[in-house]
Amino acid sequence: MEQKLQEQWNGFRELVAKIGSYHEAVNLMYWDLRTGAPRKGSSTRAETIGLLSTEAFKLETSDEMGTYLQLFAQEENLAQLEDLDRRLLENVQKSYDQNRKIPEKEFKDYTVLTSKSETQWEEAKDSGDFESFEPYLTEIVGTLRKFVGYWGVKDTPYDTLLDMYEPDMTVERLDDVFDRLKKRLVPLAEAIAASEIVAHLPFLDATYPKEGQEAFSHFILKEMGYDFEAGRLDEAVHPFATGLNPGDVRITTHYHENDVLSAAFSSLHEGGHALYEQNIDPKLTGTPLAQGTSMGIHESQSRFWENMIGRSLPFWERYFGELQKQFPDQLTGVTPEKFHFAANRVENSLIRIEADELTYNLHIIIRYEIEKMLFNENLDVKKLPEVWNSKYESYLGITPPNHSEGVLQDVHWSGGAFGYFASYSLGNMYAAQMMRTMRKEMPNLDELIAQGNLLPIKEWLTEKVYVFGSAKKPSEIIFDVTGEELNPDYLADYLEQKYTSLYNLKL
Ligand code: ZN
Repeated sequence: MEQKLQEQWNGFRELVAKIGSYHEAVNLMYWDLRTGAPRKGSSTRAETIGLLSTEAFKLETSDEMGTYLQLFAQEENLAQLEDLDRRLLENVQKSYDQNRKIPEKEFKDYTVLTSKSETQWEEAKDSGDFESFEPYLTEIVGTLRKFVGYWGVKDTPYDTLLDMYEPDMTVERLDDVFDRLKKRLVPLAEAIAASEIVAHLPFLDATYPKEGQEAFSHFILKEMGYDFEAGRLDEAVHPFATGLNPGDVRITTHYHENDVLSAAFSSLHEGGHALYEQNIDPKLTGTPLAQGTSMGIHESQSRFWENMIGRSLPFWERYFGELQKQFPDQLTGVTPEKFHFAANRVENSLIRIEADELTYNLHIIIRYEIEKMLFNENLDVKKLPEVWNSKYESYLGITPPNHSEGVLQDVHWSGGAFGYFASYSLGNMYAAQMMRTMRKEMPNLDELIAQGNLLPIKEWLTEKVYVFGSAKKPSEIIFDVTGEELNPDYLADYLEQKYTSLYNLKL
């Protein structure tokens, strides 16, 4: 690079690093708020968070940033950048465009609207009163329809929203993928519902003191290769993982004494998110590339560990004994096979976050179809409950008795996160597709798991996924790892295989 340009580049990198520092400070404060910060300090803390976030936003959308981006966009300058630098530039440009294209006043109004709407949603969810929440949601959807116009309509308005969470994902692609998935999963769920297998699982009703669950979570995280020198495990109301930088990736879980499965699987899940961020190339630290490349790929890593590994029989052949050591009385007479069944039983339920691995995807497809109707067909928000209930009836054969367990169950829409839900199912599909490749390359995978030798799994994922952070796009990751584009058949194959054997089905 020419020296003059190099100086400009260094200035750009410093600006990017400064923004990163603000974000790290804010993320740490959020972690603190959610893991036991003193209540009396929380309103002052919220102001501090607001102030620091605004500073970061100002830098991200500053004229200084605009000047750098313009300079490096010139062809003769761009030609002097290395691949990785171009990726960084692309990434920064995208958030710059996203934020700069919205008039400041409208952006502020929208922030106020969503924060009010979240509070309103909480009340509405408690009482099941959709009408009280509907005006807020109508305004959010209206604002987002307008914002999509500012950002630029891709193939369809909803494509613009999808791209925010899963770069380059399109409605055309997802329509195809979800249709194929639906055709195989709906009959599978029906076959299971009609199956006569009813397991007797009284151990699920026992009490499991927190200490034993905590010890097991720590143990299992170490087994996966989670680095406690670069992270920590705490308790929070809702489990989450937060990557401050690759050397500090924290996770939380929640121990329910009446549910032995919950914390074990949420530790595996959040541990999967954390392994991703802990193993990003240190070269990327201090840039926005030092994080997962999309919500979908991130979710694929948590679900890979939680479901593909954690809900497999070999896993419990090795680790059930460890859990039994913590709870010898509660788990007397239970076998690894029985525990494995308990962790995989299917129940058509109304609530997404309580759904099993199979029906979970149907919950997501319903939300995807509704969001698409809202943005591409201008569906009236008032009609949401009706559309919601009829889709639950047709895909899952159940109708919510009230809106709390129906259209009001998720927080996402109240914060304006339209386009987000698809990531969860994308995660399942990516994970199953990666698993298929891993099995080909590691024919003894089940043996390794049954021996408790999980490190080769972590190393494989590090080399193919983790290390790149956001330096590769999601479509590049899945293609480079598996040699083909996203293909929903692998998830359907995996689920059919698992459940035909567990439920003794003939498909
Ligand atoms: Zn997750």
